[in-house]
Amino acid sequence: MAKEKKISRRGFLATGPAVAAGSAISARGITQEAELVHGTPPSGIPLRVQSMISVLTKKELIDPKALDKVIEFFETKVGPHHGARVVAQAWVDPVFKENLLKDANSALEDFELPGVGSAHLVAVANSAKVHNVLVCTLCSCYPWSLLGLPPTWYKDSAYRSRVVIDPRGVVEEFGLTLEEDVEVRVWDSTAELRYIVIPERPQGTEGMSAEELAALVTRDSMVGVEKLKPFKPEAEA
Ligand code: FE
Repeated sequence: MAKEKKISRRGFLATGPAVAAGSAISARGITQEAELVHGTPPSGIPLRVQSMISVLTKKELIDPKALDKVIEFFETKVGPHHGARVVAQAWVDPVFKENLLKDANSALEDFELPGVGSAHLVAVANSAKVHNVLVCTLCSCYPWSLLGLPPTWYKDSAYRSRVVIDPRGVVEEFGLTLEEDVEVRVWDSTAELRYIVIPERPQGTEGMSAEELAALVTRDSMVGVEKLKPFKPEAEA
């Protein structure tokens, strides 16, 4: 019988700072937040997560390599480029857009989206008079298969609580000022129901291909906290 190395409470607590210094963990995504601030050891949730990974690894309950594969999948296989393709297609193909708004799951069957969850998808389109914003007031439900991992601010309780009360004020803080006559609709996501915003097609993009258009679509525009600016070719230089 393999001798299991028992980890005492003291050992566990001692492990945290050691891990914080980057000695044991290779699971990149988990440590990302801590690594953003050079020289600053992680604290709070990142430290707890790293400590837990360390303990579970030592107990051979998880394999860090398998964990890395999961994280790599979410870092490279999923992302807002999928949503951007959908938005661009909706801009160039009115029939697809109509189907997308009617039944997104069916309309997206041919898009080969990464299989993340089985939530029902709903697409909502912005127009000159209607602006849509997404939130999950309960936690962080997000259309992963279309937009990848949610940004930190999307999971933040300040965003989640304030955007339903004062959506104009919140999007203003993102740099988006909505005219008074624009109706703002806030969509509350759930585990079973996820949304994507189809932003308005930017001016100056007439004649562009779906592939070219997809490159202009930002993640934040598909969450509804950004409006795409008119396209100016010289700005690309
Ligand atoms: Fe949620």
